[in-house]
Amino acid sequence: MAVTEPVRCDLCGGRHHELMFIGSDRLFGIPGSFPMVRCQDCGLIFITPRPPAEAFGRYYPQEDYDLYSKAAGLKDKSMDELARLLGPRKDKIAVYKQPGRLLDIGFGDGSFLYFMKQGGWDVSGVDYNQKMVDLVRKDLGINAKAGQLEDAHFDDGVFDVVTLWGVLEHVQSPRRTIEEICRITAEQALLVIYTQNAAAPEARWLKDDWFIYESPRHLYSFTAANLARLLAASGFCVSEVVYEAPLYYLQMNWQYLKESRLGRKNDVVHSPTLADRVAVKGLSLYRRLIKGSRWSPAMTVYAVKRQEPDGGW
Ligand SMILES: [Zn+2]
Repeated sequence: MAVTEPVRCDLCGGRHHELMFIGSDRLFGIPGSFPMVRCQDCGLIFITPRPPAEAFGRYYPQEDYDLYSKAAGLKDKSMDELARLLGPRKDKIAVYKQPGRLLDIGFGDGSFLYFMKQGGWDVSGVDYNQKMVDLVRKDLGINAKAGQLEDAHFDDGVFDVVTLWGVLEHVQSPRRTIEEICRITAEQALLVIYTQNAAAPEARWLKDDWFIYESPRHLYSFTAANLARLLAASGFCVSEVVYEAPLYYLQMNWQYLKESRLGRKNDVVHSPTLADRVAVKGLSLYRRLIKGSRWSPAMTVYAVKRQEPDGGW
């Protein structure tokens, strides 16, 4: 009888992990059980066995329409409006880099690429959604490629900045993604990663009720320490971690808590009841306390390519 090898941790290659809980699709209710485990060697949290890459589309049922209408409306938006949303990201990147060649991986509705292009950047994007790639190319005149990063076959050393806004937690192998980013970036390139922070205390308290585990779409949940190790393996050195506590996360946590503990389900973000408003207000006190600290549930990591890769496993 064939013996199945345990899945190796993508970060450290470790073969031992402990089960945290069996996750389910809380957002869309698509059937399936998704075991969430923690690597006993490095602490990386991931789903194993991973849903196959072919099943990817099945777990993203609503995204197409929302993204398409947002992207189609981009040119009608004023730059002021875009600047309010995306200006802080652009300003922060400008601290590190003059406008140059930028790649956004998993560009979604394309708004960040469009905004950076208006700001004088030479932008490119890659996204798995073919429809969005076509639209961004045709309507916004942006160089976009369809598929995973590895499918795009960019030349060696061409990018000065690479950004991933809420993307790394979705990829099949973050290690391979970062290795590929290393190959296609210039010396001193800046890598910007926005993702959730699994070191937030609420992750431990809420388990499957923590919105940010987002089974089965978030295949990985990182801490800043995990990310620093992952990046160092490809020669990127973390210069800064900026922590955030989005209100949306808190609203969703409350929605999931209510659903699992009280058996009541409603859309807390778009149609909150009076009780929801009171609860969210109360929880916001906690949010204010931890906002900006390393206990916040979201983080943006800025890393510079400045050393020889120390290699992975
Ligand atoms: Zn590990």
